[in-house]
Amino acid sequence: MKIIVCIKQVPNTTEIKINPVTGTLIRDGVVSIMNPDDKGGLEEALKLKDKYNAHVTVITMGLPQADDILREALAMGADRAILLTDRKLGGADTLATSNALAAALRQLEFDLVITGRQAIDGDTAQVGPQIAEHLDLPQVTYLENLEYDGKKTFTIKKSTEDGYQILEVDAPCVVTVLASANKARYMSVRGIVETYDREVEIWGFDKLGIAEEKVGLKGSPTKVHKAFTRGVKAAGEMFETDAEEAVGIIMSKLKEKYII
Ligand SMILES: Cc1cc2nc3c(=O)[nH]c(=O)nc-3n(C[C@H](O)[C@H](O)[C@H](O)COP(=O)(O)OP(=O)(O)OC[C@H]3O[C@@H](n4cnc5c(N)ncnc54)[C@H](O)[C@@H]3O)c2cc1C
Repeated sequence: MKIIVCIKQVPNTTEIKINPVTGTLIRDGVVSIMNPDDKGGLEEALKLKDKYNAHVTVITMGLPQADDILREALAMGADRAILLTDRKLGGADTLATSNALAAALRQLEFDLVITGRQAIDGDTAQVGPQIAEHLDLPQVTYLENLEYDGKKTFTIKKSTEDGYQILEVDAPCVVTVLASANKARYMSVRGIVETYDREVEIWGFDKLGIAEEKVGLKGSPTKVHKAFTRGVKAAGEMFETDAEEAVGIIMSKLKEKYII
């Protein structure tokens, strides 16, 4: 079985800086991490590797520094790592991002594509389902648990607002995973030692076989009009009290400010 996991490098949430001119995130010099839901997705793939000897490829579209999360994934147990990086792919909204990733996936063999449910910076949860649409594959989102019959069928526990659903879907398909689906393993010591000797393949725009109008800023119908970091208006009020009294205080404050 061949699995591809799409992982995204994201700023550690508390350090968001926006470029006031372009409205895009300032990523240089910002502490970056592997998107938590993607780590959950990678762990699901590695569990299938442990049980069914699956081959796991990780792919990310990003700046050259995204090499870091690919090496982390290799040290966790991934077999192959691809960095999709090119100026032509920069400034992409979700549609352009999913176009580029889908074009890369068309160059690869797979039975299962795993993405995170959502990235903690863009927060749209759109890329996974968009990839499934581009590849015309069945998709299951909000995955909490995954079972495989060892042949072609996955049984998936999907989280819903009022509980969960159990769904069956045949390979090839796309799933989006919640970080809460599992406890991701740590990088192994041997993995950390070897990861910098391992190859990370660098793919540019030319490898994708897709029109420039489909990717990057050119391929992005979403234009960021203005982006800014909302400042803290006023210091909050602290109340040392029990829950019941706290509810009363909050209700009266909300009424005071005509919020309710
Ligand atoms: C503050 C902010 C707001 C934004 N708002 C919008 C918006 O409203 N509309 C819009 O179209 N774009 C928006 N963007 C741009 C958007 O972040 C990028 O297009 C991004 O590449 C994908 O969207 P996302 O971050 O919402 O990812 P999501 O759709 O939430 O990601 C879901 C999953 O897709 C996979 N994935 C996503 N990006 C990549 C990648 N680069 N490489 C590999 N796998 C990936 C990961 O597995 C991830 O968990 C915004 C960006 C920022 C920083």
